[in-house]
Amino acid sequence: MIVRTRFAPSPTGYLHIGGVRTALFSWLYARQHQGQFILRIEDTDRERSTTESVNAILEGMAWLELQYDEGPFYQTQRFDRYQQVIEQLLAEGKAYYCYCSKERLEKLRAEQMARKEKPRYDGHCCHLTSPMPSDIKPVVRFKNPVEGEVVVRDLIKGTVTFKNKELDDLIIARADGTPTYNFTVVVDDWDMQITQVIRGDDHLNNTPRQINILEALGANIPQYAHVPMILGRDGQRLSKRHGAVSVMNYKEEGYLPAALLNYLVRLGWSHGDQEIFSRQEMIDLFDIKTVQSSPSAFNPEKLLWLNQHYIKTGQPDELATHLQFQCDQLGIDTQRGTALTELVIAQAERAKTLKEMAQNSRFFFGDQFEMDEQAVKKHLNPMILEPLTDLGERLEQLHEWTVQMIHATIQSLSEQYALKLAKIAQPLRVAVTGGTISPPIDVTVYLIGQTRSVERIKQALALIRSTSS
Ligand code: GLU
Repeated sequence: MIVRTRFAPSPTGYLHIGGVRTALFSWLYARQHQGQFILRIEDTDRERSTTESVNAILEGMAWLELQYDEGPFYQTQRFDRYQQVIEQLLAEGKAYYCYCSKERLEKLRAEQMARKEKPRYDGHCCHLTSPMPSDIKPVVRFKNPVEGEVVVRDLIKGTVTFKNKELDDLIIARADGTPTYNFTVVVDDWDMQITQVIRGDDHLNNTPRQINILEALGANIPQYAHVPMILGRDGQRLSKRHGAVSVMNYKEEGYLPAALLNYLVRLGWSHGDQEIFSRQEMIDLFDIKTVQSSPSAFNPEKLLWLNQHYIKTGQPDELATHLQFQCDQLGIDTQRGTALTELVIAQAERAKTLKEMAQNSRFFFGDQFEMDEQAVKKHLNPMILEPLTDLGERLEQLHEWTVQMIHATIQSLSEQYALKLAKIAQPLRVAVTGGTISPPIDVTVYLIGQTRSVERIKQALALIRSTSS
């Protein structure tokens, strides 16, 4: 049987990292079994579902390259099908109309609570024979088995048993005819021939109800894997404060998709003490059965560490596309200036995120960049006028613009003036970058280019003269 998994988010908020982890596990499971991965948008809650949220889900999946083989399917486009299955269950006597008023249900509930029983529907309308008044719009309830139990052999949680007598006759269609959540999931998992349902463990209690409906339909029962929640390090449910922001926020903050996925696969799952997993390694090694059954804590520093790892080791042309995005965000025009692939190589050691890299790379582009006042005061003083003038001239005369030639020029100048290398390098750095932090000075000057470096040195010399006169 071909493996078919799905990711079925409700578009009622942003796609956060908990959702992404569930999507990743489903995607990995499908990929490692040469199966298919399906995206289904559970948008039946029309009041809370939004187009922005749907778009955020699609964008997030695309950014993370979690490709789906089918979908996105939208539940709101499948109402006819749900209606058809409801009618089938009614005709087979596996579901029934319930006319109970709100008042009756509330009274029933209060009585059960007073007797310290778990509140549940008492099946009052299940055996109705007399015709009901036509002005009451009934709901439809699924006739849940009364006896026996449902055993869920969960791939993560192990065996979990539910007694049927604890389960309600679930409403599967509201009085206005619209199907309810647990029912649409069942019909979809059935129609889409899902073989493994991998989802958040907040759905574990829905599973026995869904299994009972699947059985009533004569459908195959998929395997289930309920993924535990992600908590903040304080043990609280992950909130914005902990980093539970939209996955697209991570893109904006300069994280790489590979880092985020690597971080998430290791959250609650391990393979020896291996920390770094390529996509292919994740596919080869991930095992849903060894995912921890208890919640995991989100650790932003580890994510940052992984991000830096991927910046240091990534393919320059790929990193360059992400850096381009960051430069665009910051309004840095990259048309004129250093090639981004070269820049990425030069800056890789110095940035934990691509946003940070872009912020620290402004001086590679355009002619306007800020001069750090402190740095100017400290390094651009009259004492450096002569050597810096000399250096500017020599750089201007270089016939071959290479890192080696620039290095040799600086080196010989420092010997000639009996100045430590740093005493030349820092003023030069401030002159060409406006600050004291950049890749090695020879690389920096090389990447800024001959004409622009020389021009900037001249401007710095003018600045020294104007402030010291
Ligand atoms: N739509 C549900 C959610 O976003 C998931 C349901 C499922 O995976 O079965 O929580």
